[in-house]
Amino acid sequence: MNDPMTADEAACIESHRLRLVIDEDAILARVREIGKALSDRHAGRYPVVVGVLDGAFMFVADLVRSMSLPCEVTFWKVCSYGAGRVSSGAVREVFRPEISLAGRHVIVVEDIVDSGRTLRYLLREIRKAGPASVTIVSLLQKPATADASLCPDHVGFAVGNDFLVGYGLDLRGELRHLRSLYALA
Ligand code: 5GP
Ligand code: MG
Repeated sequence: MNDPMTADEAACIESHRLRLVIDEDAILARVREIGKALSDRHAGRYPVVVGVLDGAFMFVADLVRSMSLPCEVTFWKVCSYGAGRVSSGAVREVFRPEISLAGRHVIVVEDIVDSGRTLRYLLREIRKAGPASVTIVSLLQKPATADASLCPDHVGFAVGNDFLVGYGLDLRGELRHLRSLYALA
């Protein structure tokens, strides 16, 4: 069961006029399904989960706890949105995993795929390292990439074009801590 909403969450919803899109229970139920699918897919292996920061930190934490496999967890930090709500168009890398991905079964974990630019960049870089396999997971997928060639192997939810916040997704650094996903009204 959910913990009751904190006073802070209620205040954020009120002050930012947030509209609930996917609640905490629905997110966690779907994350468990993806965790099970990844465990089946990688049975007998020791994959490396590469979380894309900052947005995927919460998803990664829930996902690896839903997997019935041991795995290594590391992070890659890239920015494409700058500080605003619209993609800046360029992917800027802040840091990448220190461990080698050569010969590894790599599970890339994104919060949301929009234009697909971030994912394309990461895939290009990961393939240069010579991994044994690459599995792409995104909690959310916006319509822009839904029918493009670049489709994640596992998607939590297909969403519309609203700008979403919560469960790791931010608005200029704020609102990542919310446990559910919201749209800005
Ligand atoms: P893409 O490179 O696919 O256009 O954008 C992917 C990145 O943009 C995501 O990893 C995420 O950081 C950011 N992004 C895309 N859509 C949203 C959104 O609705 N809300 C937030 N907070 N970030 C988004
Ligand atoms: Mg992201």
